[in-house]
Formats: sequence, C-alpha cells, structure tokens
Amino acid sequence: MAAKKRGVLVIEVFPESLAEDAGIQPGDRLLTIGGEPVLDQLNYQYLVSLFDETEVAWERPDGSLGSAIMENGGDGLGVDLAEDAVKVCRQNCVFCFVQQMPKGFRQSLYLKDEDIRLSFLYGHFSTLSSSDDAELDRVIREHLSPIHVSVHATDPEARIKVVGNPKEGEILRKIDRLIAGGIQMHTQVVVAPGYNDGEVWEKTVRELWDRREGILSLSCVPVGLTAHREGLPKLSDVGSDYAADWVKRWTPEVRRYAQANDGEPWLLLADEWFTRAGVEVPGRSFYSRSWAQLENGVGMIRRFQEHSRRFIKSPKAKGFAGRRALLLTGASFAPVLNRVLAELNREVGSHLRAVAAVNHSFGEMVTVAGLLCGRDLEYAAQADRSAHDGKADWVDAVVVPSSSLRMGTGPTDQYTLPGASAGQGDSLFLDDLTLADLARSLGRPIVAGGENLSQLLDHLRGLD
Ligand code: SF4
Repeated sequence: MAAKKRGVLVIEVFPESLAEDAGIQPGDRLLTIGGEPVLDQLNYQYLVSLFDETEVAWERPDGSLGSAIMENGGDGLGVDLAEDAVKVCRQNCVFCFVQQMPKGFRQSLYLKDEDIRLSFLYGHFSTLSSSDDAELDRVIREHLSPIHVSVHATDPEARIKVVGNPKEGEILRKIDRLIAGGIQMHTQVVVAPGYNDGEVWEKTVRELWDRREGILSLSCVPVGLTAHREGLPKLSDVGSDYAADWVKRWTPEVRRYAQANDGEPWLLLADEWFTRAGVEVPGRSFYSRSWAQLENGVGMIRRFQEHSRRFIKSPKAKGFAGRRALLLTGASFAPVLNRVLAELNREVGSHLRAVAAVNHSFGEMVTVAGLLCGRDLEYAAQADRSAHDGKADWVDAVVVPSSSLRMGTGPTDQYTLPGASAGQGDSLFLDDLTLADLARSLGRPIVAGGENLSQLLDHLRGLD
C-alpha cells in the first residue's frame, strides 16, 4: 500500500496572493504553518487564523522543499486545497441505511462515511466511532463546536447492540472528554423498538440531561426500515400505534424539559413521530428558538406551515395565480402540503396539487420525500397523467422535492449538502436520473420545489 503523502495538496493558487509571491504552485503540498503540520482544509483555516505572520513550508512534486515567512494577518494564504478524504465509520448499526440499500445504485451511496469534520461543517451526525482520542483533542484544540453526535444509547451494553461494535459502548467517555474541552453538541437517538427504547431511552435522556452544559439538544427519531433487509438483524418498524404511544408519553416531557431549561426546548421529537401517528404536529413553542435539528426533520412541518401562512397573505403569493402544477412528495408530507395548497388555491386562484409518490425503490414503508428516486417520481407523475385522461399538457409543470436531489459530488453525496439547490445541471436523483431525464420522459418542465412556497414560486417563474 502506498504511504500516505505528507501535507495537503494545493489545487489552485490565487493571482497576486501571498502564496503566488512565495512561489507556491498547484501540485505542491502544504506541509506546515508556524511549524504545525497541516492536516486538512479545516486545520489549514485554523492554523492561518492563529498567526499574523508565520513561516509556511511546502513540498514540490519533485520532492524539493520550499519555505517562506508570510504576513497573512490571520487570513488565508491565497490557495485552494484539495478536499479531505472522508473517513469511514467503524460501526455496524442495526438500522444502517447503507446496508438496507437495494443493489444497483452508484458506488458512492454505499460508502459508510462518518467524519467529525463534516459534523461540524454540515451538521452530519457522527457516532464518533472514527474519532480516537487524538482526534477528539484536535476538535477541542480547534474548537470545532457545536458538533452533531448520534448517541443512540448511553447504556454501554445497549449501545453495543445498536451500533454493532463491541468497542463503541462507552459513548459517554468521549462525550465527557469533549465537554471538558469546551465542545458543545446536538445529539440524537434513532429509536429502534426493543433495542434502545423503554428504560434504555429513559436512562439516555437522564444522562444527557445531566450534561446539559455541553449537550444543547437531544432529538429522538423513529427508525426507518426499507424493504431490503435480507440477512440483517430482525428489527420492528415504528408503526402508527407505537408512534401514537410515543407522542402521548413524550410530548409532555418535551414541555417539562423546556421549562427546566429556561423555556428553551431541549428534548426534541422528530416530525415523523407525528406523521406516523397521524396527528397534527405541535405549535411553534414545541421547537427550539433556533430550530435546532431542523435538518434532522425536527420542526420542518411546523416551519413550513408557519411560513406558508404568512406567505399566502403576502402580495408575492399572487404570483401563483392561474398556475397549474403537480407537486410530488413523500406519503408522510403529502396531506400537510395539500392542506396548504388548498388554502393557497382558494386565496389566489392557483391550481396546485400534491400527490404522494410511492417509494418503489426502497419499499412502500419509506414515506419521506428525501428518499424518493427519479423513477418513483416518474411513475407517480405518469399515473397522475393517466388519471387526467392521459393529456400531454395535463399540468404546466411537475415539481419534485429538492431533498430528493443530490449533488453527485462524490463520497458525501448521500446527503443533500447545504446550499445545494436543485435545478442545477449536475443534480441527480438517488438512482442517477437527472431533472432533464425526467423532463424528457414526461414532456413537461420539471422544477425542484425548494424549502417553501416563496422558493417554489421563484423556481416556477424561472420556467416562464
Ligand atoms: S454510523 Fe451510520 S453509516 Fe455507520 S453503520 Fe451506523 S448508520 Fe451506518
């Protein structure tokens, strides 16, 4: 196996920058800044911020070395560095989504990546399995805070069963080390019935609450199963009765913990508990003031409803007048969306409808919009057209969920990266279909919905 090269590869040097003046060129490797080894992009940013003037050393492709004193004033040197290699997780979680993926998707979607740096940068959850003590100390030194941690259970025995790794039971040891170093974190538990619910969950809540100076929030999310669990441990789904019991038991607890936390909700229930239970999501005060864990599906529905209510009364909403569009979404969000669209249609005279697309790719029990594949959406749109006499122009546009699109940028593309707005040419569905493929097959313009009605209108206007 080839030895790992030292330093980080320079891929671009900006004109008239400190780096260019010093003779650094693309292809060189940045070795040290102020005598400290450069580990990756994030570490580079940290190191340059430490110094107003510093010695920088680099290695050229032929192995020769260069160095220079640079007066950077705490800023960058004028280089773009190669992306960091993403770390691979060492767990074997009973509910690991990667292992429940059907065969035949692009290779990068099967990568079990888990990287504390991405946790800090993008809010991805990490079980901390790929972080040894040296890395935790680096997180503390560079103050990468807050981060997002998948706890799953604080009880060591239960955690080992959930994450399938006998060495990763003691999550509290890692958490305590980070908290002692001044790092704060948002945490989550994916609730798998029989594995980490009941007393295990109650213990987790108690032990994390006891550490609330470092634990900013704790969310619980029901486990998601696909139809592709051949050879995997037996796992019960969270059905409507289970979800209804959970909502009944834990909704008052959310309010109780919020009260004890100066009014700021600390314990958070994902929207899926409510959609699976078939009940309305709670009001605004149920969710944290900063919408902590929104990306984790906590409060998305309430925020969408609140935004829609205000938007429908705004002058901009009239831009929807006369528009005919079909909005495809997951089964769990479709009823909520249809109620909002009915109000919009009444108010401004638009003709917007939401239809729940069945997830044929992962299985019908997968009801979230973000896991719909291009072919699922195509099938749902064709079925809707057939129900409208097969007319070629049955709608003016078909809207797909933005969350179902990925940037196709490599190892991290199983996530929708922040800022990745659908509608860009390189956006892919999970099954590699593109928006253009879908438009060709349906003969209708396709747009990504965006986060709210205002963005949807902007995207529809983009077609005009
Ligand atoms: S940490 Fe994530 S990627 Fe790794 S096994 Fe668990 S669920 Fe899968």
